[in-house]
Amino acid sequence: MSFHEREKLFGLIAARRDEMAALTADLVRIPTVNPPGNVYDDCARFLGARLASRGFTVEYLRAEGALGDSDEYPRTNVIARFEGTGKGPCVHFNSHIDVVTAGEGWTVDPFGGEIRDGRVYGRGTCDMKGGLAASVVAMEALLESGISFPGAIEISGTVDEESGGYGGVAWLAERGYFSKPRVDHVIIPEPLYKDAVCLGHRGVWWAEVEVKGHIAHGSMPFLGVSAIRGMGAFIEKVERELYPRLEQRRTEMPVIPDAARQSTLNFNSLHGGQPEQEFSDGFPSALVADRCRIVLDRRYLIEEDEADVRSEVVELLEALKAERPDFDYALKELWSVPPTMTDPEVPLVRALDRNIAEVLGKPARHVASPGTYDQKHIRRIGNLEHCVAYGPGILELAHQPDEYIDIDDMVAAGQVMAGTALDLLRGET
Ligand SMILES: [Zn+2]
Repeated sequence: MSFHEREKLFGLIAARRDEMAALTADLVRIPTVNPPGNVYDDCARFLGARLASRGFTVEYLRAEGALGDSDEYPRTNVIARFEGTGKGPCVHFNSHIDVVTAGEGWTVDPFGGEIRDGRVYGRGTCDMKGGLAASVVAMEALLESGISFPGAIEISGTVDEESGGYGGVAWLAERGYFSKPRVDHVIIPEPLYKDAVCLGHRGVWWAEVEVKGHIAHGSMPFLGVSAIRGMGAFIEKVERELYPRLEQRRTEMPVIPDAARQSTLNFNSLHGGQPEQEFSDGFPSALVADRCRIVLDRRYLIEEDEADVRSEVVELLEALKAERPDFDYALKELWSVPPTMTDPEVPLVRALDRNIAEVLGKPARHVASPGTYDQKHIRRIGNLEHCVAYGPGILELAHQPDEYIDIDDMVAAGQVMAGTALDLLRGET
């Protein structure tokens, strides 16, 4: 990209500052809350109509048969493609259009799309309708600049990322939408800071441990076996033996924030005894709990092996079995995702690094995400290694009340996206 081209392109994007904010606000006003997957179709068609009016070829792809898909809540994905002049690679920007529930604690309308003090407020501004708007306006500016390029640009709005991506990117990847030869480079504008390229994420292992007891009258607990006491012993063992070990395992991956640069374990939920609904209208029966379940959310490192992650939990449970005569348990693995990291030397990352340095006047950071996002499906199902996350927004604001996106950050990230796309399309890496 010549100096003249860059000035022109970046100038066009800066001039669209208000339009970027307005598009973000418009997207926020379509409350695509997941679950249940509300008004996905409206959002996909809003996006598709806009891109169609700019010359993109638009496809709507409903993930029929996917988890959660129904006529009331259709899993509608949208992919828009613009062909350049002649053969070349395809650069794809993938954003999820779903948002998590607003929750409590807001001082603004979470779906009002309020623009104030250089920010757009609302659920999904940061994660990740701001990133989506930045990529849309940046690509529109590239087309309007008249700068020619070979290959193709794609922009997708996909569903269900917040619930695993199975009706969104995974479903599309299974059908070849995230594989060569259709696509060569994928940028996911998740909120991971305008100066950072996110190379990948840690692994995930979710499991449910059920401690089994023996029911008896609550006035004579010695006649039963309390599953809750057994679970207490398990939790204590995790506290004493597993947590100290996890805290010492550090990864070479540049995971942010720094406290996530190690193995972690979260107790997601815990329930013992009678189901709560059975005594919500009255008084619980006097019983010894015969069941207690806990859900474990273990995040593991690229240096760890999933089989070891599992076996160290099993070892604790087996040790308890030896120590406590009545201890019995069942372990059920719920789901897992291996860690993933893109090689920082691939053209996609080099082009982003160079454009970040040009736009921001400082070197790019390389980071990795503490949690997973749709990159996992593109890597594993699409078998496409050239995929990273890059987008405006402050990671810690995701899923919080009073979530916002800074408009200047969107403009800067949009300039980086446009410069990077042009460099990749022209093979200037
Ligand atoms: Zn997200």
